[in-house]
Amino acid sequence: MTHSIPDASDQSNTGQFINTISKPYTVTTYSRPNLILTHGKGSLIYDLENREYIDFYSGIAVTCLGHSHPEITKIVSDQASKLMHCSNLFYNLPGGELANKLVEKTKESGGLHNAQRVFLCNSGTEANEAALKFARKYGKQFSQDKIEIITFENSFHGRSMGALAVTPNPKYQQPFAPLIPGVQVANTKDISSVEKLISKEKTCAVIIEPIQGEGGINTVDAEFLGQLRKLCTDNNVVLIYDEIQCGLGRTGKLWAHSHLPESAHPDIVTMAKALGNGFPIGATLITEQIEKALSVGDHGTTYGGNPLGSRIGTYVVDQISNDEFLEGVNEKSAKFIAGLTKIAEQHPDHVIEVKGKGLLLGLQFKPEVDIGAIVAKCRENGLLVITAGMNVIRLVPALNIPNDVIDRGLSILAESVSEVCK
Ligand SMILES: *Cc1c(COP(=O)(O)O)cnc(C)c1O
Repeated sequence: MTHSIPDASDQSNTGQFINTISKPYTVTTYSRPNLILTHGKGSLIYDLENREYIDFYSGIAVTCLGHSHPEITKIVSDQASKLMHCSNLFYNLPGGELANKLVEKTKESGGLHNAQRVFLCNSGTEANEAALKFARKYGKQFSQDKIEIITFENSFHGRSMGALAVTPNPKYQQPFAPLIPGVQVANTKDISSVEKLISKEKTCAVIIEPIQGEGGINTVDAEFLGQLRKLCTDNNVVLIYDEIQCGLGRTGKLWAHSHLPESAHPDIVTMAKALGNGFPIGATLITEQIEKALSVGDHGTTYGGNPLGSRIGTYVVDQISNDEFLEGVNEKSAKFIAGLTKIAEQHPDHVIEVKGKGLLLGLQFKPEVDIGAIVAKCRENGLLVITAGMNVIRLVPALNIPNDVIDRGLSILAESVSEVCK
């Protein structure tokens, strides 16, 4: 039996499609509202019944240049008519260009000053998996026991067995234990928690998000990152910055760590989300020192670095590393922060604070506030927002969201918060 897409004019079709087609045939790993998204344009997105929503979540910080971006549509179509895939058994032009672009733009932006090589893959999880494997290989040059990894409370690095092992959330980990051994958990507010765990003999890597996304939009202090860098250097440990959510223009510079001095730079940067504006792609950027530990056959991927994804990634990196574009991100951020601060001031009994940087922002509510109800109210009122840990409403819009759309979205958010927080 085949099913066609239901007629959008029939108001009953959303529920019917979900209940007879989506739910019975999809694995039970997500809880979703009754909403089917069909198309988008810039920072507006539409459902099956043609209702319009303002998009403040961009597919979880992914569609950084907005939906159906004309230039990206053109690139997809053009590259699809030439060569979409050829595997890593051969070179291709866009894969090389993207690697080169990432290294050059990273250095120009004040990010990883000794960036040198790139491993291209297809998602954030894969980018972290590569980083962890590279760090293990680096450590093994010195000793077979140099295999331990330090991660942090409230962090998120992905759901594969390796990435999950460094994501210390019991809800995600417990059903799948045992995970890889030798992972220890430190606290981003207390450098002595790292000092107690790190050792030259046993530790091969430290992995950290400079701004925690899923965990609640928690900015790690620049001073802490500097101290962490020093501890890693002193103990010959690979420092990995997971910039999958906070990187690629989101904080108003190319990388969240572009705001930091060289003395706080990592050895590896991982990225994904915004890199493909919705096309699945990820990358692991490393220094020559890490590269030296690698040999042919150590790691691989069939799809990684494919010409289609790489051409899109090259275009995205070009756009978001542009100074004028980043200036726009900072202006839009100020507008968001002003609007969110006003909401916080109007609801002192419900809101704790406005968090984050650039366009990676959070409105943190007191634990007793039902933020799920606020998200649902926003949706009813025509605005899509998502949550993060610590009872935070997360705002991660497209980096080029128009100012009038910001204003409209913020007033829906204010109204929805008022409806729930009476
Ligand atoms: C989303 C995310 C990941 C996982 O990326 P996927 O593309 O979902 O595999 C890892 N780390 C951080 C910080 C993320 O935000």
